[in-house]
Amino acid sequence: MKKCLVCGRKLRIIKFKTLDGFLCKNCYRVISFNYTRTVTQVSQQEISNIFEENQKITNLKMNFEISKKIGSYIFFDDKNKYFCLTNNPKFTNLASKPEYYPYDAIKDVKLQNKELIIKGQDLHTLAVEIFLKDNDQNIIKRNIVFLSYPINGNANIYHTLLKFAKQIVLQLQKVANTDLATNIKE
Ligand SMILES: [Zn+2]
Repeated sequence: MKKCLVCGRKLRIIKFKTLDGFLCKNCYRVISFNYTRTVTQVSQQEISNIFEENQKITNLKMNFEISKKIGSYIFFDDKNKYFCLTNNPKFTNLASKPEYYPYDAIKDVKLQNKELIIKGQDLHTLAVEIFLKDNDQNIIKRNIVFLSYPINGNANIYHTLLKFAKQIVLQLQKVANTDLATNIKE
C-alpha cells in the first residue's frame, strides 16, 4: 500500500500525486497552501522545505515573547529577535495570517506619508514600508497601511496614526541596528 511522503500514513482511496509520490489529505492541505495551488509538480525537496518552514513558524508562535507592541500593528520579541506583523484584518484589505521575521532580515524601513493637495485641502495617506531579505536573499517588501484613502492633515486620527507610524519606523530601525552592532562586535 502507498504511504504519504510526509507523515507516512497509509493511503487508501484519497491521495494526491506529487512529483515523487503521494500525499494524504492533511499533508496535501499544507503543501497546496490551503488548496490554492496544484501539487503534481512539487518535489520531495520542496515539500521538506515547506514543512521545515511551517515548523519554524509554529515554534516561533509558541515561543514568541512580546517585549514591545505598537498598537495592534506590530509586536517585537527582543529575546528571540523576531518581530510579528499582525496583519490585523482591521488594517489590511486582505485578511492574512500574522507574519514573523527576524530582526536581521530588516534592510530598510520607510515612512510613506504622501501628501496630496485636492481642491486646496491638505490630504494624506500613510504607510510604513519594510524591506526584508528573505531566505533566498531576495528583497521583499511588506507594508503596514494606516490610511489607504487620503484624509485631512488636520484630522486628529491622522496625527494619532502618524505617531504610531513614526514609532514603528524608529523601533524597526533600532532593532535592525542593534543586530548590526552585535555583528560588528563579534
Ligand atoms: Zn501525510
